[in-house]
Order: sequence, then structure tokens, then C-alpha cells
Amino acid sequence: MFSGGLDSTATLKLILTETKNEVIAHHISIRMWPPRWMPEDESSDKCLAYFKDHYRQFTVSKSLFSVDECPGRVNSVALVAALGALCARSFKANVVVTGHKKDDTLFASTPQEWQKRRDVESSFLNLLFPSACWTYPIIDWSKEQLKNYLEPELFKLTWSCRREWVDEKGHFVHCGRCFACQARGEPFYMGIPY
Ligand SMILES: [Zn+2]
Repeated sequence: MFSGGLDSTATLKLILTETKNEVIAHHISIRMWPPRWMPEDESSDKCLAYFKDHYRQFTVSKSLFSVDECPGRVNSVALVAALGALCARSFKANVVVTGHKKDDTLFASTPQEWQKRRDVESSFLNLLFPSACWTYPIIDWSKEQLKNYLEPELFKLTWSCRREWVDEKGHFVHCGRCFACQARGEPFYMGIPY
């Protein structure tokens, strides 16, 4: 499961370099406001192209999910779990890999929340494709380790910001303020919020 963020990019690099497994990188584009999907989609496309140019070939797939057409709040943990399980079944994949970390602050700040996340992922997988398993190869890595693991030009292609801003040319830039920007050491951006 590939987002174009720091964590999933490091995870994909790990799989492409440390295994000879056939890889399917699946990106979920969640269309909602604010449009975080726009810089995420852009980063995802750029990172995947970089991997194909500099590492090895693999398959790319993508889901578009419009929150506006969906009643109620979307639970992104459940969405990723469901689509991960569906991908496993569609591609007959043995393993679903995500770049989640134990200290993820957004969805799993406590061991109990982390266990709940794993339970949701397991339940979808058991329902849709029980022969597969879910793995988290960078679960104990720190942000600094992840950043150092990526070559600088690849790191620059990744996107992590939760409150995207735009520069004077209309390009998305990391805000430098949100927890994700602070975790990856982005400079404080003094421009305009999107
Ligand atoms: Zn930010």
C-alpha cells in the first residue's frame, strides 16, 4: 500500500532492494477537502516513476475514492484495510505490506489503538483473502532512520504534510508546521495556506 509519503516510500525501497518478490504498489487517492490527495497523487506518481527508473520494474495500481459521494465519515483505517484485502484477493498476493509504524501519531498513538488497527486489517483479510498476511517491515524505524535510508533526491519527491500550502508558482509545499512536517524536519514555510 503506497501513499507517496516518507514511510511507504522507504517501505517500497526496502521491498524492491531486499527481496526478489513480485511487487504491486497500490495507491489510494482519497478525494476530499482539503485536497491533500493532490500533492499525494503527484508525489506518488513521481516516486513510483523514480523507482522504476532507478530500481526495478513492478506493477502499479490505484483506487480513487470520493468522500463526497459517501454518506457519513470515512474511517481511513478501515478503508486502507478493506482495499488492502481486496488488492490481495485481486492480485492473489501473499502479503500486504504497509509502512505503518508503532509510533504513528495519527491512528495508533497507544498500543491499544495499534492493536485495534491490526484487528481491523486482519478481519478484512480473513474475510476476503485469508491465505494472505499483513506485514509492517518498518514498524520500529524512526523518522530519522527512514529519511536517511532514502537518497536525498527520492526523499524530496515524497509528501507528508497534513496542511498543504502553495508557493507563488502554485506548487504545493510542506507547511513546516504540522506534526508530519515537524517529524521529517521540514522548514517553516512563510507563504500562503492552500
Ligand atoms: Zn505540514
